[in-house]
Amino acid sequence: MIKFLDLYKINKEHEEEIKVAIDRVLESGWYILGEENKNFCSNFAKFCGVKHCIGTANGLDALSLIIKAYGFSEGDEIIVPANTYIASILSISENGCTPVLVEPDINTYNINPDLIEEKITSKTKAIMVVHLYGEAVKMNKILEIAKKYNLKVIEDCAQAHGAKDNGIRVGALGDAAAFSFYPGKNLGALGDAGCITCNDDDLAKKIEALRNYGSHIKYQNLYKGVNSRLDEMQAGILDVKLKHLDEDNLKREKIAKIYLENIKNPKITLKKNALGEFNVWHVFPVLVQDRDDFQKYLTENGVQTVIHYPIPPHKQEAYREFNHLSLPITEKIHKEIISLPISQVMSEEDAYEVCRIVNSY
Ligand SMILES: *Cc1c(COP(=O)(O)O)cnc(C)c1O
Repeated sequence: MIKFLDLYKINKEHEEEIKVAIDRVLESGWYILGEENKNFCSNFAKFCGVKHCIGTANGLDALSLIIKAYGFSEGDEIIVPANTYIASILSISENGCTPVLVEPDINTYNINPDLIEEKITSKTKAIMVVHLYGEAVKMNKILEIAKKYNLKVIEDCAQAHGAKDNGIRVGALGDAAAFSFYPGKNLGALGDAGCITCNDDDLAKKIEALRNYGSHIKYQNLYKGVNSRLDEMQAGILDVKLKHLDEDNLKREKIAKIYLENIKNPKITLKKNALGEFNVWHVFPVLVQDRDDFQKYLTENGVQTVIHYPIPPHKQEAYREFNHLSLPITEKIHKEIISLPISQVMSEEDAYEVCRIVNSY
């Protein structure tokens, strides 16, 4: 069977170095907010090209903490793509703000910058962009709109570690950015983890406290904070894997290139103009009209696939207030999209085999 994502193999590649990091933490006797955290966050900030990186417990908390730090709450609106993983939208609701959903561009699957301005009201406080499936959002127009209306730009980088727009890494494109290091992401921990990146000194300082009970100095609480910290073990492991991130992303691109050049089946729609430093191929999405049948066929032929995602956020039970909305492009994507196997440990042979099977469908 060709696995969708072989996490065991991915981490096994760095077994020796990971074990050294784990051992170092064990021996240090210090497990939360210590040297490993400082070291990884400093390296990740450098990698992204920003001044600050603050570790959090996961990606959803990272997004939510940015909104909390800006003080956005009840009555404030935040623009967000309708086509995203639900966490982006949950981070807005969690703070009592109203998510304002915007349709994607059918070619990139990312938010359509031309549809943002019409959604802006006197209550709009921020635009959240999501670099979905590994592809960096083209930021030019969005940054212009944000400037014109004095809005913050928040990046959800959970699927795009290392991707660039205009030569600048995601995480450094807006006012503040959230990353997830969930095991299956391009940079994945061996558990839950996340972080926030930004250049704003005051914001970074506030988030540092907010994620630690609202406290800089033990038992002195400035804010009503939360507990969402990156632990030493995960920080040590992430620092090992960060060193290989660019090379891992290039290996993913190699697989993507094989798919793009060799999948020739009129029933399958591939992404166009998708190769380049703006795309780190978190997943390899294709559109197919009879998706369930296609997935069944692939499973029967030994190719594991995953659907990102089967139900759009506005059609979820949790968002009953949005169930009536008609977002045809988002709905089409959720109905037809399916992700083929891709990762840094996938062999080129397997990629050619997937092409052969997909072409015989
Ligand atoms: C994974 C993901 C998140 C949430 O990250 P967690 O670490 O799982 O909380 C947020 N947004 C997007 C787009 C994601 O893919």
